[in-house]
Amino acid sequence: MRLHVRGRGLPDGADVELWIVDGRISTEPVAGADTVFGASGGGWILPGLVDAHCHIGLGKRGEIELDEAMAQAETERDAGALLLRDCGSPTDTRSLDERDDLPRIIRAGKHLARPKRYIAGYAVEIEDESQLPAAVAAEAKRGDGWIKLIGDWIDRKVGDLAPLWSDEVLRAAIDTAHSRGARVTAHVFSEDALPGLIRAGIDCIEHGTGLTDDTVALMLEHGTALVPTLINLENFPGIADAAGRYPTYAAHMRDLYARGYARIAAAREAGVPVYAGTDAGSMVAHGRIADEIEALKAIGMNPTEALGAACWDARGWLGRPGLEHGASADLVCYSRDPRLGPDVLTSPDLVILRGKAFRPAAGPAG
Ligand SMILES: [Zn+2]
Repeated sequence: MRLHVRGRGLPDGADVELWIVDGRISTEPVAGADTVFGASGGGWILPGLVDAHCHIGLGKRGEIELDEAMAQAETERDAGALLLRDCGSPTDTRSLDERDDLPRIIRAGKHLARPKRYIAGYAVEIEDESQLPAAVAAEAKRGDGWIKLIGDWIDRKVGDLAPLWSDEVLRAAIDTAHSRGARVTAHVFSEDALPGLIRAGIDCIEHGTGLTDDTVALMLEHGTALVPTLINLENFPGIADAAGRYPTYAAHMRDLYARGYARIAAAREAGVPVYAGTDAGSMVAHGRIADEIEALKAIGMNPTEALGAACWDARGWLGRPGLEHGASADLVCYSRDPRLGPDVLTSPDLVILRGKAFRPAAGPAG
């Protein structure tokens, strides 16, 4: 099937006209193509949206059935998220790559943590921290170029958030990943784990609610990216409420919540690259990338920048193409300006994935 779409692109608003043949984009006209979007003029065409932090194959207790993982991926697709960076999953979802109707997934393998230092059932639990580099090497083989560490979590003996790893082990682990061509990211809520991770050369920080002026400066120096998962911050007060036995920890979570947006805004203002991720798969529902894009406006991004953080800019960061000639035809079309907000963004008029047209929630389009 040959398709043809016409509209305006972003960030520049220039006219876009594309043909789709054998699942790929052609910027050259192709005969016999069916115009599936933009026949009457108007409308917007973007590369598929990116959720740069979600979890496909993660349920409340960890591993889930593949059917459920597929349903999570379908929900993302129907919301226009066609490229997902999976930030850790206990379920082996690699067989999903055979389904050409599901978003592309960039996996970080399994979360790497220490015993009792993350949510039960989610992570590979490493008894002795000296085993971290070997575990990183194993996950680098299972993943698609990313490794996910738990950087900090409640230490019940301390009664507060605390780092999981020594600086020395982090350097060895991150060097191991880099030597295998993988990038590394870490879950970090609080302040103390950040300097060691950033100095060790980590590529990205997830959440980052504990950033300070000093650690923002370190991120700039080391070129570290930030995926703040802003909509997941709404869970911090509930986490604090449920932690009655650990008052210091609960107070810390409330403080991180109260100051989180300001700290992330300061990082962005200073020049740290910020990308959109929802953290869907544990406490956040799938299909909410539009809500994260909206939240990014509250840390100082204008509507075009916020959309770019979940689209063309995130694709560039992840090394995936946009609407170039020859690229896989993974794109989303909107009759209204997608910068208007979640009402428009969550309901793309047309999703094209690997050259196949979908109208969300209505199955493949004619
Ligand atoms: Zn996550």
